[in-house]
Amino acid sequence: MLVPELPEVQALAERIESALAGARFVRASALSFSALKTVAPSPDELVGKQLTSVGRRGKFLVMSLGTLRVLVHLSQGGRIVFEPGSVTSRPKGALVRFLFDRDPGLLLKEFGTERKAGWWVLGPGDEGPLAKLGPEPFSQEFEEFVLSGSDGGRLHPLLRDQRRVAGIGRGYSDDILHRAKISPFRSLSSLDEAERRELLEAVRSVLSEALETERQRRVDGLPPKLGDHFTVHGKSGTPCPRCGADLRRVSYESHEVTYCPECQTGGRVLADRRLSRLIR
Ligand SMILES: [Zn+2]
Repeated sequence: MLVPELPEVQALAERIESALAGARFVRASALSFSALKTVAPSPDELVGKQLTSVGRRGKFLVMSLGTLRVLVHLSQGGRIVFEPGSVTSRPKGALVRFLFDRDPGLLLKEFGTERKAGWWVLGPGDEGPLAKLGPEPFSQEFEEFVLSGSDGGRLHPLLRDQRRVAGIGRGYSDDILHRAKISPFRSLSSLDEAERRELLEAVRSVLSEALETERQRRVDGLPPKLGDHFTVHGKSGTPCPRCGADLRRVSYESHEVTYCPECQTGGRVLADRRLSRLIR
């Protein structure tokens, strides 16, 4: 399963805000105690507070209730389901239910077997896990990093590193590098100025187009299956939409990167380290 990235979380935040802005918090029913990552403030302190806004930072959903904030990180299998506030069942994988003085109730639930989604209640001035996040893709800080940074590591893991830039994961990294026509194994320091501009432009255009698609296609919560609108991610073996060559995949750090050898690597097939070790 795919971790929801900036476009999915941003559009979800907008849907929650338009459904529930101004509603008063009634209670958080914890259905799995390990999913709550903070001890203080207690979720009881949210009771009676008004949901003033719902936003996003990186891949975190941020619900503001007066001076308190509730963060939700969906991780791989976590999703939000909109449901009537009257529902009291305890479905498999359920982590917490947020209830307001009007519908919908929000159920945070994990599909699949991973148990990594979580939620936090933050007091005033507490950034919690947001403190470790790097700049947003549309910020000036990220622009400067791409245009003048000297990072020597590979671009694919760099784009997914939340401390470098927040909100991008495996799916959009593939699409971004394909659009920029840059190999996932190149480094930022190896790019010339034109390539750096291409990369920045690709990051922003891929994410904003995906956000627009999310806004148009989805209603209510976020379903288990995502990524139906990727350009190349998860599509190895099918023709590249730009040049028609077969998209390839290469295993890297326990997951697969999809790329087009014609568009991105000058026709070169990237070595699968696990595979080449076997062959040798
Ligand atoms: Zn191609």
